[in-house]
Formats: sequence, C-alpha cells, structure tokens
Amino acid sequence: MSKEELEQTAEAFRKDLGLKKNDPLDPFHLSVDSVVVERLRTSSCIDAKTKRILAGPACGEWSAMSVPLNADQDSWVVFLNDCHTIERQRVTLLEEYWHILSGHKLTKIAKIAGAFGRTYDSAEEHDAYFLASATLLPRDAVKRMVSEGKGAAHIAATYGTSPELVEYRIKRLGLWREHVGKKVSLSTP
Ligand SMILES: [Zn+2]
Repeated sequence: MSKEELEQTAEAFRKDLGLKKNDPLDPFHLSVDSVVVERLRTSSCIDAKTKRILAGPACGEWSAMSVPLNADQDSWVVFLNDCHTIERQRVTLLEEYWHILSGHKLTKIAKIAGAFGRTYDSAEEHDAYFLASATLLPRDAVKRMVSEGKGAAHIAATYGTSPELVEYRIKRLGLWREHVGKKVSLSTP
C-alpha cells in the first residue's frame, strides 16, 4: 500500500470507531471479532518455566506473537509481552490487530528467542506498523502540534505512546525538519 492509502485506511478505521479527529485511542479498549488477547504474565497457556524465560532473558527479543487458531487464519490469539512499557504494548497490540485485519499471513520462518516460529514478510511488517502508528497518532493532530512547536514527549503523553513512536511518525509525515527547527536558505549569487 502507498503511504496515502495507509493514512486513509487508518483514518477510516478511527472514523468507524466513532473517534473524533484528535481523540486518542487506547488499543486495550478495542475489541476485534475472533481475536483474544493473552498477556504473558497472567496467561495460563504456558508453564511457569517458559514464562520466566519469556519475561526474563528473552524479554527484549519479542513484543507479541499472534497465533492462528485455525487453518484459515481468521481466529487468533494475540500473545502480548506485558513486561514492556504500556506505551510500547499499545503500538504492539495495534500492530498485531492490523496484521489480522489486513489479512496478512504468517509465512516467513524466523528464529525468535532461540526458537523457530513464523513471522510476516517485511512489506507486511512495514504496513502494519505504519497503520498502527497512524491510528494512534492522527496525521492532522501531529501536523498541528509540530507546527505549534510541541515536543515529541508532549505529543506522546497526549496520545499514550512513546516519544520514539512520535518521532517515527513525524519522520514518516515529512515533518522532521520542522520538528527540529533546521533553517534552510539559498545563498544569493
Ligand atoms: Zn508485525
């Protein structure tokens, strides 16, 4: 999908939820048909030893795993690493929702935390992350706040995301120069 298509897809999604243009969205308040969210620390799906590894030494290596419950991949469990900050979990969860809502299929084999599993291909990773960031940080609101000189930390606090996600969003929107206040000029001959 092109950038503009991704922006419009995220906008339409926010509209369907009944959000106003500048409203923040907490993905933890979202429910998606046939998708169940399991949090690592409260999950009863895995044994205590595996849990300790996933929350301990392997914590930094993964943020979520989506597991299809049937061959058609239309019913899912999203297994979420809730050892990460709530801000990071929000974009992670929404990214997983977007993979599912976009019909992405788990295909590529990857090694994660010493074990082999399936992931999405990199174009789908890009699209899902872009969609999640655009859904959390609406384009017009970010543009306005950057033009008002608001910093990434302020925008992040308003929308419940990390400042790093705001910076990613500002760059994707082509607002980085304005954000960092770099002046440009032409030399007169
Ligand atoms: Zn992903």
